Amino acid sequence: MGDGNENFAPGPLPGVTYPLQVLYCGNCSMPIEYCEYYPEYEKCKQWLERNLPEEFEKLMKIGEKEEDGIGEEEKKRQKRGGKGIMKAKKKDDVPKQVCVSRAPRGKKKSVTVVTGLSTFDIDLKVAAKFFGTKFACGSSVTGEDEIVIQGDVKDDLFDIIPEKWPEIDEDSIEDLGDQKR
Ligand SMILES: [Zn+2]
Repeated sequence: MGDGNENFAPGPLPGVTYPLQVLYCGNCSMPIEYCEYYPEYEKCKQWLERNLPEEFEKLMKIGEKEEDGIGEEEKKRQKRGGKGIMKAKKKDDVPKQVCVSRAPRGKKKSVTVVTGLSTFDIDLKVAAKFFGTKFACGSSVTGEDEIVIQGDVKDDLFDIIPEKWPEIDEDSIEDLGDQKR
């Protein structure tokens, strides 16, 4: 729609890295691409933000892309697993809620199923380990956003989860009751 975008100026294309120019960081004196390996990367970032705001933005965008890449990986894994109601697909679309339920295991034993922790950006492996330690029982990540704790500890979770992760309110934990499998 003739809004002046048809004159293509020759020159560097956005998003293309030209190895023509090396920019050095004023904090660690390394080329800025290496700042992230410097122990004081935070200070480097501050220096970059002040002195090379454009480069700083570029570096930050690269970081975001990497995160997106991880997201894609998770989606793939999720498809392979293919189960679970509380999927951690698009985190913004999923309501933040943790669900706990009891499921039978064997004739007399029960396990406790916890889903939804990743809607609070909680590392499931860390959480599973925490539950295992807390309840002195087996606890493992069993799905994209599912942890199974070996034992009936459902009622305790309403206290323990908000205590461990204050961002999870007790009201954000839904009791799904007993599962029938
Ligand atoms: Zn630096």
